[in-house]
Amino acid sequence: MTTVSIVSSSPSFTVSKILCIGRNYADHAKEMKADIPREPVFFLKPPSAIIGEGQLIRIPPISQELHHEVEMTLLIGKRGKNIPESSSLGHIAGYGIGLDMTLRDVQAEAKKKGLPWSLAKGFDTSAPLSHFVPPSDVPDPSQLRVELTVNGELRQKGSLSDLLFPVERLVSYLSQFVTLEAGDVIFTGTPEGVARATPGDKLQASLLRPDGSRVVSLNVGVA
Ligand code: MG
Repeated sequence: MTTVSIVSSSPSFTVSKILCIGRNYADHAKEMKADIPREPVFFLKPPSAIIGEGQLIRIPPISQELHHEVEMTLLIGKRGKNIPESSSLGHIAGYGIGLDMTLRDVQAEAKKKGLPWSLAKGFDTSAPLSHFVPPSDVPDPSQLRVELTVNGELRQKGSLSDLLFPVERLVSYLSQFVTLEAGDVIFTGTPEGVARATPGDKLQASLLRPDGSRVVSLNVGVA
């Protein structure tokens, strides 16, 4: 069982599923030469994909092109189905930062053939996650920013205020189709700047307040 935890809180959550939102920033949809979606696009990763602070991403031998996608993550704290947008935030037990690691060459091949993305997105180590911080530390998630450096060099940055579908809408939308359970994790989508990560790289992902101070960060490497 894979568990995640909230900083300064004793109970840990067993992750039952990971829901990921694709194309949630217009500038990323553009760099992927994809249309801007009218409704959120989502896919799943298995909990076995999770790694944590200080661990290594391992590239399966079938891929020559591992890409990073830095994303704010949400930890669901209570069960919900058909959650109205007005009560969405009450289902969130924590905010964190994560990496939706993607085998871009495998994904491109799947897209071409009309096949699912599971292998490209769900392989072991494809979901590095930070600890989560409680909502009391995040009065307004739309004011936060995400940032990724690789070997100390800035690669991706984005403002949550630019999300095509904000957090309230994502939780509400997903819960129409998939019952959300305590311990579920949601990846909220990546800003532009996705690029290759290669063996030996050191990735630092951060969730930042508007003044640049850090809410939480995550450091992982590529094996
Ligand atoms: Mg993504």
